[in-house]
Amino acid sequence: MAFKPLLHLLLVSVAVSLVLPATSALNIEFVYHHFPQMTAILRQLANEYPELTKLYSIGKSVQGRDLWVMLVTSNPNEEPLLKPNVKYVANMHGNEPVGRELMLHLLSLLLDGYGKDNYITWLLDNTRIHIMPSMNPDGFEASAEGECSGVQGRGNANSADLNRNFPDFFAGPPKVAVQPETRAVMDWIRQTQFVLSGNFHGGALVASYPFDNIPANSPKNFRKFGSPSTTPDDDVFRHLAETYSFNHKNMYLGQTCRDGSPPFLNGTTNGAAWYSLIGGMQDYNYVWGSCMEITLEISCCKYPRSFQLPQFWNDNQKAILQYLGEVHQGVWGRVTDQNNNPIHNATIKVKGREFGSRSTYRGEYWRILRPGTYTLQAEARGYDSVELNVQVAKGVIVQNITLYPQSSTYYEPRSDPTFQKGGLVPSISPVSNAASYTGATVKGVWPTYTRSLKPKEAVIFPRGYLYQTSPQFIDYSPTSNRLLLNYNYFGGK
Ligand SMILES: [Zn+2]
Repeated sequence: MAFKPLLHLLLVSVAVSLVLPATSALNIEFVYHHFPQMTAILRQLANEYPELTKLYSIGKSVQGRDLWVMLVTSNPNEEPLLKPNVKYVANMHGNEPVGRELMLHLLSLLLDGYGKDNYITWLLDNTRIHIMPSMNPDGFEASAEGECSGVQGRGNANSADLNRNFPDFFAGPPKVAVQPETRAVMDWIRQTQFVLSGNFHGGALVASYPFDNIPANSPKNFRKFGSPSTTPDDDVFRHLAETYSFNHKNMYLGQTCRDGSPPFLNGTTNGAAWYSLIGGMQDYNYVWGSCMEITLEISCCKYPRSFQLPQFWNDNQKAILQYLGEVHQGVWGRVTDQNNNPIHNATIKVKGREFGSRSTYRGEYWRILRPGTYTLQAEARGYDSVELNVQVAKGVIVQNITLYPQSSTYYEPRSDPTFQKGGLVPSISPVSNAASYTGATVKGVWPTYTRSLKPKEAVIFPRGYLYQTSPQFIDYSPTSNRLLLNYNYFGGK
């Protein structure tokens, strides 16, 4: 019985040694890679696999190190409609680098496995996977191998804790300045609609999910150790956390790292139920990024000796792969008008779950949901809102949504005595959230149109007409309730 696996192993190793050059980056050592070595590995992988990777930097750390991200997917230069974006972020705390090394091994596994392993091939064919090995490269360089606890290198070069540095849903903007690393991630999240995310840490063994913070003024959620602070998507978050913990070699056992601390049931916990914090990244992803992010604590020792890295890779490998596949569960589709034009920034919500997502410029939306029946609510400025029921089974259901213009927001400006010269003017429409409305500036010489807006009014430009528009957007000021519009109408439908 032992003969067959041995033969198999032999064949594989022969095949690999024949195919790969001796210097292949696939032979990533189980050691901690400092920034120059990590950068070299990423560059080498990008060179060896141009058809599967795109290496990019989302900005620089305080000390000027690139915040590298490697996109792994089939045809990385194409963006097929509805192919979802997922991400892994590691080493946000500089002295918690196990995830940093696991990300390099993950890259190697995905690139080597494409075309050989069915699951990996399916994953890369259907998912855009963005991997950031280090969000805090400066902190890593300041920390020391073998330090299991402590804070040396935890923060960035300004000693700021990046996982306390995000705007907070309950507490508002962070008390210290938003750091370059934080800003880069916020911009990244704004520019790319991520659907699923994992954030690797060390110092415990548990999969933790939002919220990390709790409502400040809620009497039943007073700031007390152990109070859970759940999101309306608690069922989804629990499932995501359990997907990781039960595919991990031992996280699901819930064993605690320290004597005296309570065990984690199934190796998962609500963030605030463990302990609450302000300005964390997972809450930010969920509330402002419409991205389901959980925090993966994967080593009791924050910076274990490198000889333990093969064991950590072995313990986490299956969980890391299975978690990525969870983006393919729920409902997604496109929001378009009656002429199949995409509608950008439509809000898509699930009834009973207050946190919605916004459609991309191509009208795409994604929502991870457990099997069940849901009511989708879609709305966009200038369109009638719709509600529709969806039945989610295992896997993804595609539900495209068509929105029709609110006919009442259009009127014939030629009959408006304000506009003696005729022409078209933007119409005024009530919106539910005027304070966040952004009005497009339309520049031109004629006519200048000034009108006071009533509370909760916003300007809607008629569609189907040509304007000379500025690419800039200006904020509508809710305090003055006034918006000056200079625009030039070119006429014609
Ligand atoms: Zn951490």
